[in-house]
Amino acid sequence: MEDKLTLQRIQLLHPKLRQETEYIYRSQIVPALSGRAMCRFSYTIRTFEEQNALYAQGRTKFYDSNGRKVGIVTNAKGGQSIHNYGLALDIVLIKDVNGDGTFETASWEDTIDFDRDGKADWMEIVSIFKRNGWTWGGDWKSFKDKPHFEKPFGHTWRTLLPLYQQGKFIPGTKYVLI
Ligand SMILES: [Zn+2]
Repeated sequence: MEDKLTLQRIQLLHPKLRQETEYIYRSQIVPALSGRAMCRFSYTIRTFEEQNALYAQGRTKFYDSNGRKVGIVTNAKGGQSIHNYGLALDIVLIKDVNGDGTFETASWEDTIDFDRDGKADWMEIVSIFKRNGWTWGGDWKSFKDKPHFEKPFGHTWRTLLPLYQQGKFIPGTKYVLI
């Protein structure tokens, strides 16, 4: 099942990744998940402002707009996340709980084989991205970030941030020139 929101969010990725990611999503991920779960990209790009707002959660801001208590969700300030450059994405599974063709419930379960093909759906997505040369946050030693995938073309935020600060963008955009 192809997800419209995901296709829209792919268009927000760094131009260097857009075509590739759309291809991976439509031709590899969608056909691989044939059961009661589909894959959605919950985030692709996150602006510096959005990143700073996220960093503030649990540090200087303790309640969300609905008055619910919030904890620390990230260790990255604006500019310190690969998302800030459009070179990363986060996934979530959306489940069709009733089996009626409506996918409505978010799930971060990484061990469930929704389409009964012998491999957990989450790990099928992991295999696909890794096969295409992406880095999976679940492989990180210190802080495991299982929904996270990135392809920064040999860069880290430490090499991307100076490009951003020096205004080295693809003309007419805020995507760094890499
Ligand atoms: Zn992420």
